Amino acid sequence: MDKVNMEHMLAIEEPFLKVPLEQLKRSARQIQKLVEREMAAVSSELSEALKNQYRLAPEELQKTVDGLIERLQVLKRKLEDANQEEAQLIQRSKRRAIELQELKGFETTAHPLFQQWCRRRLDRVLVDYMLRNGNMRTAQMLVEESQLEHFADTSLFSLVMAIEAELKESHSCRGALEWCAENRSALRKIQSSLEFELRLQEFIEMARAHNRAGAIAYAKKHMVSWSDTQLPRIERAMTLLAFPPTTLCPPYRAMFDQARWQTLSDSFRTVIFQLYNLPAQPLLHLLLQTGLSALKTPACVSEEPSEHNRNCPVCQTETLGKLARDLPLSHHVNSNLVCRITGEKMDEDNPPMRLPNGYVYSQSALSDMAAKLDGKIKCQRTGQVFKLSEATKLFIS
Ligand SMILES: [Zn+2]
Repeated sequence: MDKVNMEHMLAIEEPFLKVPLEQLKRSARQIQKLVEREMAAVSSELSEALKNQYRLAPEELQKTVDGLIERLQVLKRKLEDANQEEAQLIQRSKRRAIELQELKGFETTAHPLFQQWCRRRLDRVLVDYMLRNGNMRTAQMLVEESQLEHFADTSLFSLVMAIEAELKESHSCRGALEWCAENRSALRKIQSSLEFELRLQEFIEMARAHNRAGAIAYAKKHMVSWSDTQLPRIERAMTLLAFPPTTLCPPYRAMFDQARWQTLSDSFRTVIFQLYNLPAQPLLHLLLQTGLSALKTPACVSEEPSEHNRNCPVCQTETLGKLARDLPLSHHVNSNLVCRITGEKMDEDNPPMRLPNGYVYSQSALSDMAAKLDGKIKCQRTGQVFKLSEATKLFIS
């Protein structure tokens, strides 16, 4: 029985805990800003009214006070909503911490509750995979079936999908720019140029529409502030105005290229994942790679397809093998003999059989072949044909 290795189990769980905490942090910061802005506006309006209280007609004063009350009521409603959202996020963080805490109670991997825990983890890893790929409805079905409401970051991924669709399909930067404005200080901290790229795209669209005056005004308003780090690109953007959208001149053709929308969408995903501490790859890939790296042998990467074992996932070059491409070869302390024809392990029950030409196959493969070929067997590597009785049994010591 294997012991549960807490350290290994927790190594991949960081994003699971961090996402709701990051959301909480962001929400608290936004609320703080909102309160500061509203209170400053209210107090300045109030002091203005007090200054003029003897000059203003009572009705006018009344109107100002009513306006202030209404403003504060809107603020109150927003705070109540935020309070509710934060309570949900706290609950979510708590449930996730409890889920990981449970691992402590399992002494060995044979514990039935450990198996259940792993099943739940598999489900949440699958939900993460589906959410990343935009399969929102299927993800939601699994969330409901497995009661994973507190473990799925549905709202975050819905936001990612909505903004990506706006960029790729509607060719609009509106949502992405709003998101940048809400997260400006965090973006500055990681020195992200995403907002500049979006501004540049809006500028390019004006150039495409031959709106040169509009583009210049836009650049003055939104791009000049980036001149510390982006000056050469701002200059190139200005030169773009001299070229038609059909230009073949390489740097300007690249700027007019519609493929920039896909690049923007990819950059947005990279940045938002970075801010929420989400790995670029789905957890499912990381877990599969851990398993695949234990199976990868030199034969798996051989250019010769006949070296591949059909029962080995790493040898499936079009599917799981792709995930294993950059993984190192595994270190095997004990060797296993595997039949090249059937992919089965060769042992005392299915011993290796040596043909007169020196090649070795499993007994079961050779007997199956002999049954079909009238007692004959054919070497898969050389094509030579022998009688089954010519094969000799080898002993593994
Ligand atoms: Zn293989």
